[in-house]
Amino acid sequence: MSDFPTHLVFDDAVDVIREVAARHRLESETLPLSRAHGRILAEDVIAPIALPPFDNSAMDGFALRHADLGPGETTLKLVGEQFAGMALPLQVGEGECVRITTGAPMPAGADTVVIKENTHANSEHVTVLAPPPHAGANVRRAGEDVASGERVLLAGSRLTPARVSLAASLGIPSLPVHRKPTVAVFSSGDELVEPGLPLAPGQIYDSNRELLMGLLRAEGLEPTAWPRLPDDPRQVEIALRDAGCAFDLIVTCGAVSAGEKDHIPAVLQQFGQVHFWKVKMKPGMPVLFGSLDQARVLALPGNPVSVFATFLGFGRVLIDALQGATEPRALERAQLASPVDKPHARREFMRASVFCDDHGVLRADPNPAVGSHRLRAVSDSNALIVLPDGPQRLAAGSLVEVLRYA
Ligand code: AMP
Ligand code: MG
Repeated sequence: MSDFPTHLVFDDAVDVIREVAARHRLESETLPLSRAHGRILAEDVIAPIALPPFDNSAMDGFALRHADLGPGETTLKLVGEQFAGMALPLQVGEGECVRITTGAPMPAGADTVVIKENTHANSEHVTVLAPPPHAGANVRRAGEDVASGERVLLAGSRLTPARVSLAASLGIPSLPVHRKPTVAVFSSGDELVEPGLPLAPGQIYDSNRELLMGLLRAEGLEPTAWPRLPDDPRQVEIALRDAGCAFDLIVTCGAVSAGEKDHIPAVLQQFGQVHFWKVKMKPGMPVLFGSLDQARVLALPGNPVSVFATFLGFGRVLIDALQGATEPRALERAQLASPVDKPHARREFMRASVFCDDHGVLRADPNPAVGSHRLRAVSDSNALIVLPDGPQRLAAGSLVEVLRYA
């Protein structure tokens, strides 16, 4: 009766997210470098100049002609000074040298720099001590790092500090990047109470809101927390449709399962679109991915550990794909510190402490807590171990993928 995929295997759900997000990629904007950090580049960057732009000295010392040096000490005539920041019309002739600082252009005729520490110098002469530098020593050649016209950054790559600084070194003041998604965060449930207020019998504090706000902020987003949704279909509809007109992304938690009070799937089916509902994973099985007006909707189950697994498993993928990111996140593997037996076929996300042991080996120590409500075990851990689909009997020492979150 449903016209959307359901009970997908985890990887197929990821594919659906990527495919839908590719159709709704956020437009690009041009930002000054100082605001482009962490963003996804929207166009390739072609080097407008070479790096280094000119031959220059790698050290403080004296620029000379290597052919003038003998096997032992050689004394040369000091004919000038070339400091970084200007290019004097200096010429190094036979038997001559020029005092030079790091980054200063090589004077004409010179091909080698001897470092200051390997010389004796007065105001007129410089003695190069043995052993002499090899030909071309301490000279940085124009274009040896980047040739002019070379493609140095690719569209879809994340702007790390190193990449932003590479753009700066090429004289590029601003970069085209994809817009970050605007995000509305909803928690839902009549039982939820704001921390700081008294609890009535049957109520619990809302912990998922802060969990999601923190996880989204860690992705560089600026999420907006919406007032909590009561378990009322009309109110859920009004609030989600409101947000659907105003945000690129809606992240909800709770009310997505099969209970009488789980109204989110019906609202999406009636007023939007469901791309999938339910994934063969543990925890997090009821997760739903849909669209509502201009927003993509990631409806996460309510149990705190399910929020974690589905956000790390799908939320990050969606956020990256909406911004056109093409580089996969770094895959990390660790050795299991204790054996794990998984009889079921679903992909499982298991809380664990990942640490580097005394031999430099990354190890993952599974947390024994059972139950997707146990947030304490998430707080005591720093990663989720990803156990592959299919029943698994993994011995201690087996390599497993880990998603670190702290
Ligand atoms: P639900 O999917 O709405 O049935 O929620 C599943 C479980 O997660 C229930 O025990 C809820 O009380 C709990 N839960 C749902 N939302 C939150 C929240 N924001 N903070 C803490 N627990 C929640
Ligand atoms: Mg609920």
